[in-house]
Amino acid sequence: MTSPARFDRGHTDDLMSFLAASPSPYHAVANAAERLEKAGFRQLSETDAWDGSTGGKFVLRGGAVIAWYVPEGAQAHTPFRIVGAHTDSPNLRVKPQPDLGSAGFRQIAVEIYGGALLNSWLDRDLGLAGRVTLRDGTQHLVNIDRPLLRVPQLAVHLDRSVNSEGLKLDKQRHMQPIWGLGEVNEGDLIAFLEQEEGLGQGEIAGWDLMVHSVEAPAYLGRDHDLLAGPRMDNLLSVHAGTAALAAVALAAGELPYIPVLAAFDHEENGSQSDTGADGPLLGNVLERSVFARGGTYEDRARAFAGTTCLSSDTGHAVHPNYGERHDPTHHPRANGGPILKVNVNQRYATDGQGRAVFAAACEKAGVPWQTFVSNNSMPCGTTIGPITAARHGIHTVDIGVAILSMHSARELCGAEDPFHLANALVAFLEG
Ligand code: ZN
Repeated sequence: MTSPARFDRGHTDDLMSFLAASPSPYHAVANAAERLEKAGFRQLSETDAWDGSTGGKFVLRGGAVIAWYVPEGAQAHTPFRIVGAHTDSPNLRVKPQPDLGSAGFRQIAVEIYGGALLNSWLDRDLGLAGRVTLRDGTQHLVNIDRPLLRVPQLAVHLDRSVNSEGLKLDKQRHMQPIWGLGEVNEGDLIAFLEQEEGLGQGEIAGWDLMVHSVEAPAYLGRDHDLLAGPRMDNLLSVHAGTAALAAVALAAGELPYIPVLAAFDHEENGSQSDTGADGPLLGNVLERSVFARGGTYEDRARAFAGTTCLSSDTGHAVHPNYGERHDPTHHPRANGGPILKVNVNQRYATDGQGRAVFAAACEKAGVPWQTFVSNNSMPCGTTIGPITAARHGIHTVDIGVAILSMHSARELCGAEDPFHLANALVAFLEG
């Protein structure tokens, strides 16, 4: 068995391309699928019968992807090693009747998706992307990746106390982007999309559209040691998990586990959907893979009981200007390596046993690692880890990468941490 390639700065370069090409969860899973196919994975349909063959396989459903690699010698009760992540990020999403206007401007009606830092969406040049469903039922990805929209901030002259007292934004009144000038007619936006995409008038029957910053990801800092970009929460983990699974599959060795990537949609609003971590998707796919290899319910139970999931998501690096908001003895730093996330109240699923699994993977990969725990006075965030643990009874460890500006339209992380994470994930998936 050849050892999978060790990731370096080239991985971060590839992450930048992945972020730029993935303005929506639908694009993210399409780009993950493309990378998996290059590594020999093939797409399975959930409506077909599955066989027990070896090799790499994946299922796409909306903004979610589950991929797994069945190695030579895998048995029905062989446990899984899962990397979990989520494909969605907070943003502005188009309402069902989007055509608005005021004071001579054309505007688009949007809802706020997830816990967006609203101020970060102001005064940015924004594009529009997502998925459209045509009258014949086919789905198409759309991406207008040019300055099309903007949410203009009120001038300081008209909001004199904004710097001293803080910016107050009403989600309904203040966040509707403009997209030009002129008279507003019902159906304008969808007619525009049909024209841009070369579709016939009235062909689009449904849409899931969202707004993104068109600014490209970039290295930042004196020594280019930071990475600025959109949607790092949590496409950084989706990308690292995809790269790690592909590397393990390409090494094509005998493995003690079946390595899996599970990237879900809808984490930012609680994961309750048919493509979210609180839905049946992962459990269905794992069970079907056991049964396709001739397994019984007993084999399924044995496989699940021996399975471990590393749930990878972003966490907070210590902010240099707000040190007091963080725990005094846990100070995750950019480029300090992946973080182990702990919360005794099960906002994170990590326990001491999980810490040992993660530490062993990092040690094997030769990457540094750190721990994150909240300041007791600050509410702790959560992620798909506890949901995966509770829904499937799978031992789960919450990990990730420390970033600044979480949930901003443009986040910031260390340029080395993405490849440290990918190397740790390879070591974990190899077992
Ligand atoms: Zn996240």
